[in-house]
Amino acid sequence: MTAETNKCSDELFELTRLPSDSSAIAIDFQRYLTRHLGRFIGCIPLYQYEALSLVIRDRIMMDWRDTWRRYDEPGVRKAYYLSLEFLIGRSLGNHLLNLGLDHSTEEAMNRFALNLEEIVSEEVDAGLGNGGLGRLAACFMDSCACMQLPVIGYGIRYQYGMFRQRIENGFQVEEPDHWLRDGYPWELERPEYKCVIRFGGRISSIEEGYGKSRPVWVDTSDVLAIPYDVPISGYRNHTINTLRLWSASATSDFDLDDFNAGSYSEAVEAKNNAEHITMVLYPNDVSENGRELRLKQQYFLASASLQDVLRMWENTEGPDYSQFKSRNVFHLNDTHPTIAVAELMRLLIDEKGLAWEEAWDITSHCMAYTNHTLLPEALEKWTVGLFEKLLPRLLQIIYEINAHFLKQVAMRWPGQVDRQSRMSIIEEGDVKQIRMAYLAIVGSFSINGVAALHSRLLTSGLFRDFYELWPEKFNNKTNGVTPRRWVAYANPGLRALITDKIGDDWVQDYSKIAAIREYVEDTEFIQRWYEVKQANKQRLSEMVENTCGVKFDTTALFDVQVKRIHEYKRQLLNVLHVIHLYDRIKRGDSADWTKRCILIGGKAAPGYKLAKKIVKLINNVAEVINSDPQVNENIKLAFIPNYGVSKMEVICPGTDLSEQISTAGKEASGTGNMKFMMNGAITIGTYDGANIEIMDALGSGNYFLFGLHAEEVEAARAHYNPGLLVEEDEDLQRAMHLLQCGHFNTFEPAIFDDVIQALLNPNDPWLTLADFRSYVDAQERVSRAYLDRTHWVQMSIMNTACSGPFSTDRTISEYNAGIWNLQAKPVIERS
Ligand SMILES: *Cc1c(COP(=O)(O)O)cnc(C)c1O
Repeated sequence: MTAETNKCSDELFELTRLPSDSSAIAIDFQRYLTRHLGRFIGCIPLYQYEALSLVIRDRIMMDWRDTWRRYDEPGVRKAYYLSLEFLIGRSLGNHLLNLGLDHSTEEAMNRFALNLEEIVSEEVDAGLGNGGLGRLAACFMDSCACMQLPVIGYGIRYQYGMFRQRIENGFQVEEPDHWLRDGYPWELERPEYKCVIRFGGRISSIEEGYGKSRPVWVDTSDVLAIPYDVPISGYRNHTINTLRLWSASATSDFDLDDFNAGSYSEAVEAKNNAEHITMVLYPNDVSENGRELRLKQQYFLASASLQDVLRMWENTEGPDYSQFKSRNVFHLNDTHPTIAVAELMRLLIDEKGLAWEEAWDITSHCMAYTNHTLLPEALEKWTVGLFEKLLPRLLQIIYEINAHFLKQVAMRWPGQVDRQSRMSIIEEGDVKQIRMAYLAIVGSFSINGVAALHSRLLTSGLFRDFYELWPEKFNNKTNGVTPRRWVAYANPGLRALITDKIGDDWVQDYSKIAAIREYVEDTEFIQRWYEVKQANKQRLSEMVENTCGVKFDTTALFDVQVKRIHEYKRQLLNVLHVIHLYDRIKRGDSADWTKRCILIGGKAAPGYKLAKKIVKLINNVAEVINSDPQVNENIKLAFIPNYGVSKMEVICPGTDLSEQISTAGKEASGTGNMKFMMNGAITIGTYDGANIEIMDALGSGNYFLFGLHAEEVEAARAHYNPGLLVEEDEDLQRAMHLLQCGHFNTFEPAIFDDVIQALLNPNDPWLTLADFRSYVDAQERVSRAYLDRTHWVQMSIMNTACSGPFSTDRTISEYNAGIWNLQAKPVIERS
């Protein structure tokens, strides 16, 4: 071979980095748009978005491959984040920021007289999650990539994500979210890594000689799991981590015998049934509890992901599993993927031939579990009957895990039979059930809550027995949010101002944000901070006007509560306050008024009737207020439909007051509270979840606290008397009267009776009226504080300045130090 041909093959095989100046991007964009997509510059923006995404994707690929190579080196310890939800939202804009391509891309688009912001907002949200839990998983992925940690996310590629919410006559209407309809440029199908997932069948046994036999799972119906990889870019560090989403597919396209016999519909039925598994994301809805398809999804995710990890293990380390437990950790995001505990046992014993003790030693050293809720109705249980039918081999293994475990309990507390039945993974009774949280605890070496209070309540309440047995397993990891998406990307005005003062290191090391404290007395800085907030309020008010038809005056206080609609989050308390303000204006008590624009948004689970009624109430109250000229100069109320990640990116930068008003002891952590804080909103909140830590970080004076504490809530239940509270508080009496006399439902008699009943129920679990007085008083303090603009802006600056601990970079470094023990693996720079 000549030197000449050698050089040529070097160039062919050693791909070099693509240029990323604005001309290179413009040329590639033009090429993708015209030659690949067959469209031209004047086309609809969807194709502009698609072409630009392909341009950026090209600039990710080499780093993505190099990141994989680095993680695949022998001996690298890795973590796998298993989650049924990843609420990642849009990707294009986030990659542009993380890769440092935002300015050159904007310039490139300007050459075509195109607006980058408009193109970026063409992308549909990947709404593969319900709310906080799924969004946390997405923020975690961002931080892991930023910190160059070998972490792979595993989830499900739902064809339909979270439903789209429309408001019709004040009611929530759900529409399917077919987010993949126009294709998704951020996924890469990897059929070469497909695996088989088995369901149903029965257990037979194989004679192994010497009178021994072992169980085998036979006659199963099989489904294929096909992985689709989504790149997660680190912040300007060449690391591209992977979110691997599984999609279900039939093992063969269809039954040829049926097809040839002319039974076309039967022939495709099996295919359709298989593909149903990953068709829809379940809304967290009480009425969906115990559904067979949901258990199938959970097992599908767990089995596919574990098989994938074992395949990778054997690829780099061979068939020897002796080092497996020191190199791998599986993190269970809530109990949803807990079946992984039993599935890893099955794979190691049935497929890899390990003995029970060996397999258990590996499993129990590789699993870690995060609990996300104290609400008992949210704790997952599955009937033994369903397991028997769907996953008979897994049921056997769970029984055996339980038998070993109960022996341990009996040894620790001899004779305490009630404790054994209390702690058993199997709940006895008319319908035997499997307690997934207990399986997760027994199978994991680490169990964490998501805020200090929540972790404390877990060990003193829900999991007390287990804490007494294994105190060393329990720990706290307070949640966070990523400052890249939630400040640098969502709030470019604030990013520029902060960077102007302290440089841009804070984006990647968010503890540095504390340095802006120094400017809290600087009048020029205060003025600029105020101007940024005003511009963001302008942007938010345009969105509100376009989506709700309500005009928000940007000189007013923007008072915002956006989150899932749930009784424990107490949107009703907010509405009662709004009704109280309305009443004050109507009765002429509006001297020295602080104008307010109140925004509420969030989805109610489709089967949660009362939550949907709360949506209707908010809309009806809004209608009365906004159409009354005597009132709408002083307050406005709007319900923003279809709350989601990209809506929040506009909402949190434009908010003055963040409503975090859950019944104390019920919100495990909250993360919306952190996004608002980072963007300089001031919180009105209860002593609950991470609010407590937010308050501690701020020092008193920069937070509006109200309401009963968690222990007081529990103590108050015994003598809670809402009727008496109404009688003794004239403001509350008047607000309740407006509700009860049908003031907000003149033409819809009695529709709010269930809401009123819930408020007046002495057994109201959320004690809404108990906090009314304290809440209204705190709101009055807010109104007065807002009148002093300079002081308000200073509080705003302090909120951002003290938000360092609420970055997921802090959370993830604690996960890593306390649970995962991974080493950062920087991508080796190519020349
Ligand atoms: C942050 C976020 C949540 C969680 O909000 P909480 O106030 O903590 O309940 C839910 N949904 C979306 C779209 C979010 O961005």
